[in-house]
Amino acid sequence: MKKINLIGSTGSIGVQTLDVIRSHRDQFQLEGLSFGNNVDIGMNQVEEFRPKIISCSTKEAAEKVKSQLTYSAIVLNGKEGIIEVATYGESEILVNAVMGRIGLEPTLKAIEAGKDIAIANKETLVTAGHIVTELSRKKGVRLIPVDSEHSAIYQCLHGNTQSEVSKLILTASGGSFRDYSREQLKGVSVDDALKHPNWQMGAKITIDSATMMNKGLEVIEAKWLFQMPYEKIEVILHKESMIHSMVEYIDGSVLAHLGTPDMRVPIQYALSEPNRLDLKGGDRLKLWEVGALHFEKMDYDRFKCLDMAFQAGKQGGITPTVLNAANEVAVALFLARKISFLEIEDVVDRALQAHSPITEPSLEDIIFIDEETRHRVLSNIN
Ligand code: NDP
Ligand code: MG
Repeated sequence: MKKINLIGSTGSIGVQTLDVIRSHRDQFQLEGLSFGNNVDIGMNQVEEFRPKIISCSTKEAAEKVKSQLTYSAIVLNGKEGIIEVATYGESEILVNAVMGRIGLEPTLKAIEAGKDIAIANKETLVTAGHIVTELSRKKGVRLIPVDSEHSAIYQCLHGNTQSEVSKLILTASGGSFRDYSREQLKGVSVDDALKHPNWQMGAKITIDSATMMNKGLEVIEAKWLFQMPYEKIEVILHKESMIHSMVEYIDGSVLAHLGTPDMRVPIQYALSEPNRLDLKGGDRLKLWEVGALHFEKMDYDRFKCLDMAFQAGKQGGITPTVLNAANEVAVALFLARKISFLEIEDVVDRALQAHSPITEPSLEDIIFIDEETRHRVLSNIN
């Protein structure tokens, strides 16, 4: 029985992680669970899975949980609470499904506590990839990808050695506006941006997909997860989202991972690997129904956020932290209808232009610069 702690349970990845646990009760047991403020969904999960420890973001939410709880469990809140859940008990693995930089400290503490990390929360790797990977190496714990592209690459790498890889090829669907010109992007609304053609996801990542920042964050995520130089990471447009990513080897062979777009597949694999379990429900890939798969070269002038992410990654040091923090705030401002869609990239660009590089940032530097960037972006907008 694999014991699991889950943070971000009420979100898109969190809910699907619980689906996987529910369909394999004989394999998986939920020990700790954390969510933000969505007590209605959170309480249903708590009553169904009966975790031993629960945490929510605010004291008020935690009080509500305590008042509704029908069995005995530890109930906490805030930053300390999420860390307690992440590091709790004898769980072997933490599923990190929170959105944003808030996932960083719980990840580091869970690594210190010897837990493997099934990582969906890409912002953590973008903002502090060198610290997270170095600590996991030291502690001998594994970082197992949940993001579909990285899970695909992880599976295509099995049985081969790193030196035989010539490049990683990440596929990008193109998001909600993939066929729009930059002129057409000027007037797009939040509601339009939230309509992703292939995936049902949380709001922030859906906007990131539309700006292509999501793929940029994934390039940096791939660099750290697979210790691959940026020169060996390529992005191509593939609108069907059937090939989740590929690995090209030095002999010219290309291994690809295919499947219908269903996040339960990479989530389940992260929990079961190297074994595979039956996926209950869900469509199977019928290539004769798909008919044709399409690919296009990436246009970096059209998708400026991807270009900025590549540049920030190559610059390294504190720059990806600035990119991520500015983007998190910009997306929140767009979702709050305070800036336009194209202003997201302007906000990120200005933050990158204004920042002072730090080569080997410490955790303290990262937390400080992350917060400073957020304040600076907000005060520029106001
Ligand atoms: P959602 O926005 O759907 O969910 C985020 C989760 O984090 C919710 O449970 C939310 O709680 C919780 N949360 C937010 N703030 C806090 C806080 N301060 N303290 C504790 N919990 C908090 O996001 P997604 O599931 O879409 O994405 C999660 C991560 O996975 C992101 O990094 C994303 O990039 C990545 N990812 C997502 C994919 C997807 O298909 N959705 C695919 C690949 C990667 P609450 O709602 O209760 O407030
Ligand atoms: Mg992805």
